Amino acid sequence: MKAVAVIPKTVNSVHLVEMDKPKVSDVPNGRGVLVEVLRVGACGTDREINNGEYGVAPAGFDFLVLGHENLGRVAEIGENVKELKVGDYVVASVRRPGKSFYDEIGEQDFTTDDQYFERGISQLHGYMAEFYAESADYLVKIPEKIVEIAVLLEPLSIIEKGLKQASDIQERLKIWRPKTAAVLGTGSVGLLTVMALRMRGYEVHGFGRDKHDGYLNAELCEAIGATYDSTAEITVPDSVKKYGEYDLIFECTGYSPIVFDAMQSLNQNGVLILSSVTGGDRKVDAVPADKINQQFVLGNKVMFGTVNANREHFEMGVKDLALCEAMYSGWLARMLTHKVEGLENFEKAFEILNNASSYKAIKAYFEVSKI
Ligand SMILES: [Zn+2]
Repeated sequence: MKAVAVIPKTVNSVHLVEMDKPKVSDVPNGRGVLVEVLRVGACGTDREINNGEYGVAPAGFDFLVLGHENLGRVAEIGENVKELKVGDYVVASVRRPGKSFYDEIGEQDFTTDDQYFERGISQLHGYMAEFYAESADYLVKIPEKIVEIAVLLEPLSIIEKGLKQASDIQERLKIWRPKTAAVLGTGSVGLLTVMALRMRGYEVHGFGRDKHDGYLNAELCEAIGATYDSTAEITVPDSVKKYGEYDLIFECTGYSPIVFDAMQSLNQNGVLILSSVTGGDRKVDAVPADKINQQFVLGNKVMFGTVNANREHFEMGVKDLALCEAMYSGWLARMLTHKVEGLENFEKAFEILNNASSYKAIKAYFEVSKI
């Protein structure tokens, strides 16, 4: 079978490989599921791995099959798989257990290991292939009615985890009735965050760098009942004069200095969620440290980081996708801006990823096989 792979830590090494088709029996205890890949999303992580920034090949291989955002159809099941049947649509999670205590209890998204096992990223082949085999434990069933947009579930799962952590943390308060939220960054992750917060009834304010007019992402914010402002025109702290302080802020810009702006825009008892993996070495001068610290102390505010997702967050995501389809039918499909047919056209997918703004791409994805 065909797959799209890189030589980890080698710049622009993306290429097509021919591999043996995996088998249900590759997975122990009769829990194997052979999945025919239908769609695979491409994102900044794939771009960064192809840029040689990170990525680890599985033991015994010099290449790593890319792809972590996935949708597939069950082709074959092992004898101990009762929860799925042939023909079911599924999305697989990404991280597999390592060695820490959290991994042992199935909470590998909270691992304290330094080395991760992540499909398509680190030590495990990904989903940019015609088939993959996986334990049913890591597959989430997708209702047929949302299959067209279900390739968005993996990126959404990251947001679901962040929001779940926020609500768990806020149980420290006897009553927390958040009303307004700011989402910093309105790329694909930001838009999914806007959506997930709108599904929870928040008044949502999206912020991006691009000017409002002619920006599809701004239009999508408004189409789901949120606002959009360009940070070129108004800073996040200044936006507080317009919208009030935010009960919840979700940061997903990839631009770390904006975190300090967000810290100054948080309401009392508010929560700030950080999700950008900023690999650079930016430094910030003139941060009003005393003021921010005092506001955090006197306002009982919280800031936390979140990464990866567990099965329950994928399941939460399925519900949000279904609710969004019911409330704003067709909105999610508008995020799927660029379809690349066939894994052999990987160069096109990376051309779009590397020039996302000139392509006006929100989400590029492979159609590996027809739904
Ligand atoms: Zn991704």
